[in-house]
Amino acid sequence: MMVHNIPAALFRAFPDRPVIVRAAAGGQLRAAFGAEIPDGVAFVQLTALTGDLAPLADWGDGLAVDLVMADPEAELPLLYRCTPLLARHPVRVTIPWLPGLARAVKLAVSLGFAVRLVGSQPSAATVEEARQALDMFLHNPTVAQPVEPFHGLLIAFLHQTPVDLWDLLERDPAQIRVLDERGEPLSDQGPESLSGFRESLRAAAAECCACPWLASCGGYFKWPRIDFACDGVKRLFADLDAAAAELRQSLAAYAAERDGSGDGV
Ligand code: SF4
Repeated sequence: MMVHNIPAALFRAFPDRPVIVRAAAGGQLRAAFGAEIPDGVAFVQLTALTGDLAPLADWGDGLAVDLVMADPEAELPLLYRCTPLLARHPVRVTIPWLPGLARAVKLAVSLGFAVRLVGSQPSAATVEEARQALDMFLHNPTVAQPVEPFHGLLIAFLHQTPVDLWDLLERDPAQIRVLDERGEPLSDQGPESLSGFRESLRAAAAECCACPWLASCGGYFKWPRIDFACDGVKRLFADLDAAAAELRQSLAAYAAERDGSGDGV
């Protein structure tokens, strides 16, 4: 089912459900919803970490909240002021592929937030930061929240099941459409159609055609510029694949040991 991401100002005039409702401050969401959380609200997005959070901190138990960072470097300290939301809401921080990503992911998970990385075509330095964040996600035993796309890709690689990065990062235009203040689709959110986009990659004989990660990536990093060089993100996929293989081996060794010791009892 298609989910529309709409500004809070459109909520009452927009009959289609489900919706993701976004606003710069919690008060705008409370004003749009009324006393109760209406049916069909998938989750809410706060688009400014500086906005007033108090109206959500004491209302709406269980309503999922997505905090959208615009600049992970500059906004890092603002994460602390968002922690009161965790008492009533499952809260995720959406972090763009920009400088400051590694520290933002580390602080977000240590404060108890889930994380989603968004955007595309990161610089080489930002990919290295993403690899540091992945290393922390894989090896820090205190990490209790999912960090996407690491979590979804790791599970899929571990169990060798299909996964689609567009879907994992909520960027599939067949599933989520982001509308502007006039109710028109925002044009900078991704290709209009994934099948059409993939066809254009094939037609252009893009790097994806020979990429070992095409099945899970789906050409995600080739939007908007098809000439983006994927060396860095391919290493990220390889890191995840190696971690999944190591985990699979450990699980198999554990099962063999458990079954072996069971024989002797
Ligand atoms: S990693 Fe790059 S080359 Fe490989 S499928 Fe994704 S976008 Fe295409």
